[in-house]
Parts: sequence; C-alpha cells; structure tokens
Amino acid sequence: MRDRTPCSALNPELIGDDVTLAGWVHRRRDHGGLIFIDLRDRSGVAQVVFNPNLAPEAHAAAEQFRAEWVVKVTGRVEKRPPGTENPRLATGAVELHASQVDTLNPSKTPPFDVSDDQAVDEGLRLSHRYLDLRRGPMQRNILLRHKVIKFIRDYLDERGFAEIETPILIKSTPEGARDYLVPSRLQHGSFYALPQSPQQLKQLLMVSGFEKYFQIARCFRDEDLRADRQPEFTQLDLEMSFVDEEDILGLIEDLYVRIVEALAPEKSLVKPFPRLDYLEAMSRYGTDKPDLRFGMELADLTAMEAESGFQVFRSAAEAGGLIKGFAAPGCAGYSRRQLDQLTAYVRSRGAKGLVAIALEEGPPDLASLTMESIRSSAARRLDIEEVKAMAAAMGASPGDLMLIVAGPGAEVNNALSHLRNLMAERLDLADPNVLAFAWIVNFPLLEWKPDEGRWDAPHNPFSSPKDGDAGLLDTEPGKAIAKQYDMVCNGYEVGGGSVRNHKRETQEKILSLMGHSQEAMQSQFGQLLNALDYGAPPHGGIAMGLDRLMMLLANAASIREVMAFPKTQSAVDMLFGAPSPVDDSHLKELGLRLLRP
Ligand code: ASP
Repeated sequence: MRDRTPCSALNPELIGDDVTLAGWVHRRRDHGGLIFIDLRDRSGVAQVVFNPNLAPEAHAAAEQFRAEWVVKVTGRVEKRPPGTENPRLATGAVELHASQVDTLNPSKTPPFDVSDDQAVDEGLRLSHRYLDLRRGPMQRNILLRHKVIKFIRDYLDERGFAEIETPILIKSTPEGARDYLVPSRLQHGSFYALPQSPQQLKQLLMVSGFEKYFQIARCFRDEDLRADRQPEFTQLDLEMSFVDEEDILGLIEDLYVRIVEALAPEKSLVKPFPRLDYLEAMSRYGTDKPDLRFGMELADLTAMEAESGFQVFRSAAEAGGLIKGFAAPGCAGYSRRQLDQLTAYVRSRGAKGLVAIALEEGPPDLASLTMESIRSSAARRLDIEEVKAMAAAMGASPGDLMLIVAGPGAEVNNALSHLRNLMAERLDLADPNVLAFAWIVNFPLLEWKPDEGRWDAPHNPFSSPKDGDAGLLDTEPGKAIAKQYDMVCNGYEVGGGSVRNHKRETQEKILSLMGHSQEAMQSQFGQLLNALDYGAPPHGGIAMGLDRLMMLLANAASIREVMAFPKTQSAVDMLFGAPSPVDDSHLKELGLRLLRP
C-alpha cells in the first residue's frame, strides 16, 4: 500500500489533507448517527469518524466492523471539535473523516480484549500468542528488545567486533545443566547436543585469530524453570583476545550504561558499577546476586553468640555453622501470625527456623533497651546485653524487628538472602526505576564437593586462576581465586564471564582436579585442549543474559513478557503444542524405540 500513512502520523499539520490508514479496529463506538473507530497499527492509534450524511457507504460498512477487523480507510484529516480532543493520544487533536473504506479481513471475536492491558490468564495468552503480541505492552517490549539488540550490534561493530554464528547441532558443552539431545539419523545411537552456550566455540575462534567475537546467541539448558528461566534463552556472547579482566568489565559496563541511558532513560543507575568480592557479597547479603537497591544487610552474630545461653545459637556455632540476621525497619509490631508466616518461609528455603526479636517502640535508643520492651519467643533465654549487642551489629533501633537464622552456613545465607528480598518487597524498598548494577569479583576457582570427592568449578571450568594463584592448584586448590566476574542487577545475575586458561597445562590440571580422566577430558574437551597447543592467545569473555536485561528494562515480571514465543514453566510451547509425540516411522528412521511407561 504505497499510499498508506501510519496512524501515529496524523497531526494538525495534515489538516485538510486526504490520507489512507490501514490497521486493526481497536475500539468502535456507535453514537446512533456517527460511528467512531479507533484504528490501530504498529505505530499507534488514530480516531476515524464515519458520518452517514457525508459518506453513507463508508458508514454502512463501518456498522459491520468489530474488534480486530483489518480495514483500510481513506478520508480527510480534520481538527477535532473543541472539547473532544484526547490529550492522552498522540494523535488526539485530529481525526480522520472517512470517505471510503475497504474491509481487508474480518476477525472472529478474540478470546480476550486486545485493546486494553487488563490481566488475562497466561495460558490463554500463550495459546493465542499472535493476538497477545498485538497488545500495547507486548508490542512495546518486543520492539524495545529489537532496539536493544540493534544498539548492541552497532556498539560492538564500531569497536571492531565481528558477529560470528556457531552451530546449534553440536556436542555437549557443559555449563552445569542438562543437555537437550538431537538423535542422529545417519549414525544411529549417536546424538548431537544443543549448546548450553557457545563457550568452547568462542574460545576456538580466539585461537583462530578473530580477536573480537560476539554473537546474539541462543542457548539451550534443560533445567527446571523459574520466572527468570526458559529452556532456550538469548545471550550476548562475547570473547576477546589479548585482554585482562578490566578490559571486559570496562567494555560491558560502558555498553550497559549507554543502553540504559539511550533506551530506558527513566531508569536510574549508579556509575561506576560497584564491585564486591564474592566473599563480601556472601557475608553482607548471603548471596552472590544481591539486590543493592536497599540496605537490610546481614550481620554475622556467630562470634558474639558462640557462648549464648540460647541453645539454638550455641549449638549452631559449636557445629561450625553461622548465626546471622538483619533488622527489618519498623516491623516490631508484626503479629504472631505474620511471624509464623516468615518462619514457614525460611523453612521453605531450607532453614530450620527463624528467631524473631521485636524491639518495641518506646526506648529512645538502644542503650535504654530493657527486657520489658523486647518481644521474642526466645526472650527468656536471652539477656539484655546480648540483645543490645545483636541490635548494634544489625543497626537495629527501637521499632525494628530483628530476624535471625542459625545453622549450617549455606543454609543460613540462602534463607536470609531470600527473606531479605521478601521483606524488601513487603516494605516496598525496591524501587523498580532503579537499576542497581554491580560486579561480583574474586570468586573461588574451585569448590570441594564432599559427596563426590572432587573439586568443581562453580562457574566455568575454563576460568583461569588469578596471576600467582596457579601454583595453588598443586597445593591448596580451594584457595585459588578465579579471574571470574558476574554482573548482577536488582537481585538477578545478568551476566558472567572470565579470563580463560590459554595454556593447556593449567586447563588440564583444573579439569583433572574436577575428576575428569585423561580419556574423558579428551572426549569432552579434546577440541579445545588440542587447539590450545597451537598458539592460543590469552583471551577472555563474558555472556550477558539478554532476556533478563529486557525484563529489567521493561519492568516485566517474567522473561516470558519479553520473548515473542516463550514456553511455559513446564517447558511447553502452548501455541504449537511442543513437545509432541512423533510417528513410529520417524523414530525408526532415527533408530529409536520408546520405553512405554
Ligand atoms: N559461557 C558462560 C555462560 O554461558 C559465560 C562465559 O564465561 O562467557 O554462562
């Protein structure tokens, strides 16, 4: 339609001009005489008026129009009569007086209203995704996503990066999740794995001399899903040669600041991004992906409570565990029922229980606290000096609720980090317009798995030890720190990467500490190990989760809101009905037979 004008282009400058619009019937109002239609296309909404006296045929056609019909309208742009302007619409000062219409395609009544943003059952939305995607918020999210990806491509292109595609049918590329497998028709009994990430491929591209690689890469991980996970997701995958940590951190931080400033200017962020050591993050927030939009930092009470008269505290300390807690401001008035809910919550997160100590309003400061102003089921087993010391450590004041968990360190940190987020939500402390980016650095390279009797790489087996730490691999592997960095934002891990091992010897040593035999190493990582023998340059990179970034930029509650065709929590595509059974003949061709349940 060469003569088509976008709906959003209707403005007072066109008054008196004849234009043609085409789009969907967004809303229709029949005022007996006049019929008004809000016509929607991708660009926006414009009001079209059908007058039976001026254009009887067009008016008669418009009588038939219903929501979501696709129509083409020609008419004259006119100023809206005084008092009928709509300041909420960009085109609200004018309207189109239709002289001619064409019904391009009628529509069945949609299963939900496309013209408003009302909450609709997600199953219904996903099974009619093509209609759901017509709705304003989804159009905005998906088009914003396009802009972000285009921005990234332009930014990296300007800085000498080449976008290189890597295969989807490949071999297992361990990133710690289960692989999706594809059976081979030509070699029965053999399988391709879909890449969990292009990790080894991008390292091989560095050996090939490309120096600066990136890819908007699809990754596949067969994991249990949560709100921020999907079986397939998109990363900005990047690798560079002849770099150290600072080069990659600097590049990505600059890119992210520019994305936010250009495409989500309503968001505020702190520059430069703060950096936290892994151990510091664990100690202050109980997690390596802390939400830094609010305080309520955890205080470690283990040393001061090791000799407590309270058995729960004493035995946790004696067993080598932790006692930690934080103060929830102004929550001293929590009822028994509210406290029981919090206890149930920390239990659901793996802790044995929760010790709540309410510092009732009244005393002007901590020093004047007395046992009378303290409410806790553990009160009888605590003395006032102990309570004061804990309150001081947490920065609690009268009126606050101290929330304490004791037990094995990992349990305590996990439960408290979740409880901290929950309290922030209840207290409305997490401003959705703040993007609290931060880097977490100085991760341990390896972590001992007592049950398996081997070391494991908590992030990526290809991360290199810090300069000077390689020797520790022979003596105390647990002490080696990795050149690994994660980017976090508002409680999510939004990216991570490392400087890699470009020397075969170090890479093999790490893999063997992880329990890989020479054969296993050769079969899983042979391609990379062999390549390291042929002049592999020092290199490092990162992968940034684009779905999560989009979720934060668009204020979306789940990554499904920023993906055009996502799957459900149970990894089902409701539109296509995937996964689905296949014909026996197809299985036979692949040399497969199903185990019947
Ligand atoms: N390949 C890693 C991941 O997908 C990131 C990286 O180290 O580049 O998590």
